[in-house]
Amino acid sequence: MQNYAQPKPIPLSKIKGIGPAIKEKLNALGIVSAIDLLFHLPLRYQDRTRVQAIGSLQSGQSVVIEGEVSASTIIFGKRRSLVCKIKDQTGGLTLRFFHFSAAQKKQMVKGQMLRCFGEVNLNRTGPEMIHPEYQQINHGDPLPNATHLTAVYPTVDGISQTRWRNYIEGAFLATNNVSVETLIESHKITQLKQHLTTDLYGSLKLLHYPPATIDLKLISTGMHPLQRQLAFEELVAQRLSHLLLRRASVTSPAIAIKSNPDIEKKFLASLPFILTKAQQRVLQQIKIDIAKPQPMMRLLQGDVGSGKTIVAATAALQFINQQQQVVIMAPTEILAEQHLETFTQWFDNLNITTGLLISKIPAAEKRRRLQAIENGEIQIVIGTHALIQDQVNYQNLGLIVIDEQHRFGVDQRRKLKNKRIDHFSVHQLVMTATPIPRTLAMTFYADLDYSVIDELPPGRSPVETVALSNDRRSEIVARVNHACQQGRQVFWVCTLIEESEQLDCQAAETTANELAMLLPNITIGLIHGRLKPAQKQTIMQHFSAGNIQLLVSTTVVEVGVNIPNASLMIIENPERLGLSQLHQLRGRVGRGEIQSHCVLMYQKPLSKNGKQRIEIMRATNDGFVLAQKDLEMRGPGQVLGTRQSGASLFKMADLERDGDLIAEVVSYSDTIIEQNPAVADKLIQRWCPLASNYIDV
Ligand code: ADP
Ligand code: MG
Repeated sequence: MQNYAQPKPIPLSKIKGIGPAIKEKLNALGIVSAIDLLFHLPLRYQDRTRVQAIGSLQSGQSVVIEGEVSASTIIFGKRRSLVCKIKDQTGGLTLRFFHFSAAQKKQMVKGQMLRCFGEVNLNRTGPEMIHPEYQQINHGDPLPNATHLTAVYPTVDGISQTRWRNYIEGAFLATNNVSVETLIESHKITQLKQHLTTDLYGSLKLLHYPPATIDLKLISTGMHPLQRQLAFEELVAQRLSHLLLRRASVTSPAIAIKSNPDIEKKFLASLPFILTKAQQRVLQQIKIDIAKPQPMMRLLQGDVGSGKTIVAATAALQFINQQQQVVIMAPTEILAEQHLETFTQWFDNLNITTGLLISKIPAAEKRRRLQAIENGEIQIVIGTHALIQDQVNYQNLGLIVIDEQHRFGVDQRRKLKNKRIDHFSVHQLVMTATPIPRTLAMTFYADLDYSVIDELPPGRSPVETVALSNDRRSEIVARVNHACQQGRQVFWVCTLIEESEQLDCQAAETTANELAMLLPNITIGLIHGRLKPAQKQTIMQHFSAGNIQLLVSTTVVEVGVNIPNASLMIIENPERLGLSQLHQLRGRVGRGEIQSHCVLMYQKPLSKNGKQRIEIMRATNDGFVLAQKDLEMRGPGQVLGTRQSGASLFKMADLERDGDLIAEVVSYSDTIIEQNPAVADKLIQRWCPLASNYIDV
């Protein structure tokens, strides 16, 4: 195998528009050089290469149209909206805005030519676009058409699509045809049937700027040969990082933990519930693991609400009993706070001390906590990635628990386990709600044994899901009122208005104000991505304590939050979300014994695909089924999978879609790790870079 020369990395500061603040955000995503930006691969594509005739539009298409404004009015109905009619030679179309400014209203005067891009809905009155992007066209000054498909990137708070497009353009300028060599020998891999390229630079360019002639279906579903080649590389890199972690972990013995049944009995008896069979079985597997003088490395998979936390806590108990410290790492501060609260409640009367470590604690308090962690006074340490920072030292770190594993890279796990300073290894329990088929999980996560909690706690009736169109908003508001009057709590989620985080937060704000007027006796909280972490935390605490009855939010509440008293979830515009994301959101209710409900409040008319997704949501509560359907339904322009958020672990690959590659990924990575460790290193560098400053939503 050849040895690849390392090109000198071009820093992000060389790219126009990237200042320190953006640089920090990009670093948090593992993007530190111009080449890394090129590997920030599109999620999907839009076709803006031609202007379509209004008369020829079909429902569900995302298209560019041009027309002249024939009328524009503000309608004061159940919801105030700006409605603008435009027409071309072939027909007329309605533009509808629920959030708009006075300036926008002024732009849409009769006779003005507009170019719009958006998704077409066909309803009784003809085609309609809701919140299209639009530009004014000045007389005699036609707008140029895009010459290639437009990429849509996975993103995080505060980086718009336009910015991503600019940064990536800048990265191509800065790198200007450097050689980016493939790190796998594609021709040896039978699953990659075509002879593929060895210099990836051109491939990357093609994937960021596909010509209009490219097979849109193929590239939108991630099945283009170049995408498959990159996915293969990435999967090899990921698996290598897992293999290396396992190697590093098993070289030394771990402390064998002999479980004390009395303590466990007493602890379980203090809980207000008994463990399900599945929880007991998994706990048993864990106890067998930790009784051995080798580190446990176990992946615990269980659907949202299946009760993974208590299993981890019961295992933790045995470590504490043997003077070993336990660390629990969660991907968000909201989740870490919540774990702290739960654990404190469970462990307080056993005289076990819990403590929180997140980055924003005031300095003096932080010093005290670091001290208490170091001298072992805090026995269960709960936190975010702050747990792996250099200044944190542990005493007898015995068990690490990683919650929502898909949000962390292997590197974070390695750093955490390396915090044990003597020659003993640390036991590791990694938890996830992401439904990965068992065989896939077992082959891919080479370093992990696998357990699953495949049953929900009893008395938990599945969340009942109904779909109502938003012209029944007042009924829905009455329902919210009723639930609150009964002492229940309610989530109201306003979903992303595409491409604009600002509008998204604004929508949540408007909704919160509107609901406050309609429901004057109900305490309403508002949470969105533009609030400071401390503000978010306070609001979540109030909601958790029951002081807030109705929480209006953007999708920031998605991961892991547990409020058993919340029994109603309203999701606005569910047709904009993928099934997995809807499932995560819906999983925020139905966590107690109360029958819970989820109202999918859609915007009429629904596209065929949107209708189908809503029907599936109503039909099943099973995360595995939903993940499978999500996969089957992805088509051009509507890939809404887990990669949607920039926080996803994968840049290109998708464990399920690329399942057919896994067997070869496994054998290939096993060979590389033996025969060419230098290439293995480079693969890991490229695809799983250190994200020391991991995302904090
Ligand atoms: P997840 O697996 O999604 O992390 P959690 O651990 O947050 O789920 O548990 C969801 C809720 O179910 C919590 O309120 C928890 O206390 C409760 N719970 C866990 N196990 C049981 C059980 N066996 N019976 C009843 N409730 C349980
Ligand atoms: Mg959880």
